[in-house]
Amino acid sequence: MSHVAYVNGRYLPHKHATVHIEDRGYQFADAVYEVTCIWNGLPVDHASHLARLRHSLTQLRIPMPCSEAALTALQREVVRRNRVTRGTLYLQVGRGVATRNQPFPSKPVKPSLVMVAKHGAGPSEVVAQAGVKVTVQPDIRWGRVDIKSVGLLPNVLAKQAAAEAKAFEALLVKPDGNVTEGGAANAWIVTKDKTLITHPLSNAILGGITRATVMRLAKTAGYQIQERAFSLDEALAAKEMFLTGTTTFVLPVVQVDERTIANGSPGSVSLDLRQRYLDYVNALDDTAWAPI
Ligand code: PLP
Repeated sequence: MSHVAYVNGRYLPHKHATVHIEDRGYQFADAVYEVTCIWNGLPVDHASHLARLRHSLTQLRIPMPCSEAALTALQREVVRRNRVTRGTLYLQVGRGVATRNQPFPSKPVKPSLVMVAKHGAGPSEVVAQAGVKVTVQPDIRWGRVDIKSVGLLPNVLAKQAAAEAKAFEALLVKPDGNVTEGGAANAWIVTKDKTLITHPLSNAILGGITRATVMRLAKTAGYQIQERAFSLDEALAAKEMFLTGTTTFVLPVVQVDERTIANGSPGSVSLDLRQRYLDYVNALDDTAWAPI
């Protein structure tokens, strides 16, 4: 089956889906994106992804390319045309096309809008149940990573280092020794008394949609949660560690470079939260596409 992408008003086969060479997303990373998990044909936390897209665009003063209802209709159509039941929907909005010059274009230009759907999402259940390795990498990103910008070069380098270390993810650490998050996931630790700790929302992390949902599910389940910075040393001594993200769901971490976390097996809290998250996505219904 050939894949269909949406590019600035047209549905095109991937090989014909191209953007202008002076698209500012291409030249300056002057664009933002969202990746939504499609589960049983339905989007996970669609309204929250739209809200974060709005935040990213507002911060960069890029207008929404169309109404949120129209955007939702386009997203549904891309998922439908690609017959995605389990996969991801990538959406990118950029400032648009203009002669190369760093300030915003003096005359308003139309924001660019691209969507690509992909089959298959995240690590297998076997991988999740075994737990994964992460590798420590310096967090060398810019000061506004709460904006989901396509400027991902530090993440690319960290993820490449992870691939070379045969690790699933990079664990990003600031010069002060604190863990911020993963290259494409939020990071959590669990203390001996089963308290969950994750970095607070700030300009230093991406406000993960999965992070927010897992936090809600964990609160409902009665877990104590502390949103505070934690150091790499604290993480290494933790009872459990896990990642959350659109494609990872809740993913136990059992190894940080050559050090194991606790006994090297996924912890009961991580597995419990993963199951609660799976129950949550399995219970989605047609209202999942509803706008905010
Ligand atoms: N942190 C970073 C840097 C990410 O790139 C991502 C997702 O791509 C996340 C966290 C997790 O966010 P979400 O749960 O919205 O996928």
